[in-house]
Amino acid sequence: MSNQLIDPFGREINYLRVSVTDRCDFRCTYCMSENMTFLPKKDILSLEELETICNTFVKLGTKKIRLTGGEPLVRKGILNLIQNLGKKIGNGLDELTLTTNGSQLEKYAEFLKENGVKRVNVSLDHLNPNKFKEITRWGDLNKVLAGIEKAKSIGIKVKINTVALKDFNENNIVEMIEWCSSNECDMTLIEVMPMGDIGSENRFNQYLPLSEIKETLSKSFKLINIPKKTGGPAQYYKIEGKNIDLGFITPLTHNFCETCNRVRLTCTGILYMCLGQDDNVNLKDILRNKGLSYLENSLFEAISKKPKGHDFSISKSGINISSNRHMSVTGG
Ligand code: SAM
Ligand code: SF4
Repeated sequence: MSNQLIDPFGREINYLRVSVTDRCDFRCTYCMSENMTFLPKKDILSLEELETICNTFVKLGTKKIRLTGGEPLVRKGILNLIQNLGKKIGNGLDELTLTTNGSQLEKYAEFLKENGVKRVNVSLDHLNPNKFKEITRWGDLNKVLAGIEKAKSIGIKVKINTVALKDFNENNIVEMIEWCSSNECDMTLIEVMPMGDIGSENRFNQYLPLSEIKETLSKSFKLINIPKKTGGPAQYYKIEGKNIDLGFITPLTHNFCETCNRVRLTCTGILYMCLGQDDNVNLKDILRNKGLSYLENSLFEAISKKPKGHDFSISKSGINISSNRHMSVTGG
C-alpha cells in the first residue's frame, strides 16, 4: 500500500486544516450567535492529541497544515503546538500557517516568525471601526490593523480574507482592495456559507453572490484571470496596476471540488473529508479508546470515504444551514 493519502478520485490529500478551538474573542454575526455555548474541555482534543494527529498526517504525506478555529491564538498552550509543529517544517512538512482574526497578532507575530510561520490569513470584513465592531460584535479594528502591521514588518506575508456581505460591505470592496494593494496584502473574497446556527441573523439576508461583486469591480478595475492553483477553492485574478492577487471563493456559485487536496480536523477530533458533507471519522475516539497504533489505518480508511464534492445551497425560504456544524468548530 502507498504511504500517501490518495482518495477514491485520485486526489492526493496533502493539506490538513485543524480547528484547535471552538472559542473566539469575536462573535462575527455570520459565524456565531451572540450567546454561543462552547464545548466542554473533555470534548476538545488536547494539545498532545492534536500534535499526534498532525504528526501522523505529516508521516502520510501532508505538506501543509493550517491552524484555525475559533480563534487559534486564544487557545491556551497553542504556542507549544506551534513550536512543535514548526520543527516539522523541512522535515516532512513544507508549510505551517494560520487563519486568525488578528486580535492577538501583534503580541505573537515574532513568535510565529521564529517558529517557521511565513504567511498568515487575517479576516477583515470592513475598514471602518464602527462597521468592524458591528460585524465582529466584540472586535477592535485598531488592534487587528496593528497585528497586520507587525506581522508585515517582520516579514510575515499577510493575506486578507473578506466575507462579502449584502448591505454591509458590498460598497466597500473597492476601498478594501485599494487598502490591500497599498499594504501589499493579497486578498480573498468569500461567499457566506450556510454553516451552523447563527441565532436571529438570516443568512439569505447576508448572502451576496461574488458574481455580483465581480461585475461591480470590473467597473473600477481590469481583472485578469491567472492560473494560480493551490488545490483550494479560490479562483485568482491580478488587478491591472495593482500589486496583489485577488481570490474569489465561491462555494455556492462555482464548483471547486475536482482539485480538492484537503481535509479538516475539528477541535473535537472529528475528521471531515469535505467542508460541506457529513462523511467523517472520529479520531478522538480512536485515539482515546483504541490507541495510537490504530490511527494510521483510520486515516487511510477516512480518506477512502472522501466524497467527490459538496452541495451547499442558500434559498429565501428554508433554514439555510446546509451543515449543522459551525465554521468555528470545523475550521474555516
Ligand atoms: N477566527 C479566525 C478568523 O476569523 O480568521 C479563524 C476561524 S474563522 C471560522 C475562518 C474563516 O471563516 C474566516 O475568514 C471567517 O470570515 C470565515 N467564516 C466564518 N463563518 C463563515 C461562513 N458562515 N461563511 C463563510 N465564511 C465564514
Ligand atoms: Fe471568531 Fe473567526 Fe468566527 Fe469571527 S469568523 S467569530 S473571528 S471564529
